[in-house]
Amino acid sequence: MEHADRILVVEDEPGITGFLSTILGNNGYEVEKAANGKEALMMISSRCPDAVILDLGLPDMDGQRVISSVREWSGVPILVVSARTHERDKIGAFDLGADDYITKPFSTGELLARVKTALRHAKARESAAQSAPVARFQLGALTVDYDRHRVLLDGADVHLTQIEYKIVSLLSRNAGRVMTYDSMMKQVWGPTIAQDHQVLRVNMANIRRKLEQNPAAPKYIRTEIGVGYWMPEEE
Ligand code: CA
Repeated sequence: MEHADRILVVEDEPGITGFLSTILGNNGYEVEKAANGKEALMMISSRCPDAVILDLGLPDMDGQRVISSVREWSGVPILVVSARTHERDKIGAFDLGADDYITKPFSTGELLARVKTALRHAKARESAAQSAPVARFQLGALTVDYDRHRVLLDGADVHLTQIEYKIVSLLSRNAGRVMTYDSMMKQVWGPTIAQDHQVLRVNMANIRRKLEQNPAAPKYIRTEIGVGYWMPEEE
């Protein structure tokens, strides 16, 4: 029998911890618990959970600090579950390396679906790291050919500028994850670029005109309002 995935729940409110443990336990996960940041860091390093569900408001340190220290040595999926709905908190969590951000209150179905997705991503990343680098990305009619630096739509070349290609390639390599405006700016233009996101928005508008049948309802590159962009995963 395959071993059950182990989820570490980091949360200081016993009611929520109990609720999360019950849901996860009933759905075949093994659950471990930490009630503060220090305990969380200790358990992540010693117990190596398959995923972490993290509350941001912890008694001893901010959850964001937990994310940044874990990311120094581990790629374990981190799903933030928070009552903070402000974009700034979301952006901060994604920039530090969180895999997902779930806003309280959430439904059981939503939580389980997102835990499953995060675990699947992590396993895909692991097997990708062990095999040859992927040569292309396919999503519906869209193909990104990394070897030839080409983007194709139904097999026909889409003429992108170098910057536009960089943006599409960055999003496709990170498919399924929200890329924040700042992280995209840094990776496409380098760290010295101004903080203004206008240049990114202009490029995105051009890319969408070239790729999307209906740029107002984009299929390939989605917007996470106020946070960034993301591309759905390969089928
Ligand atoms: Ca809390």
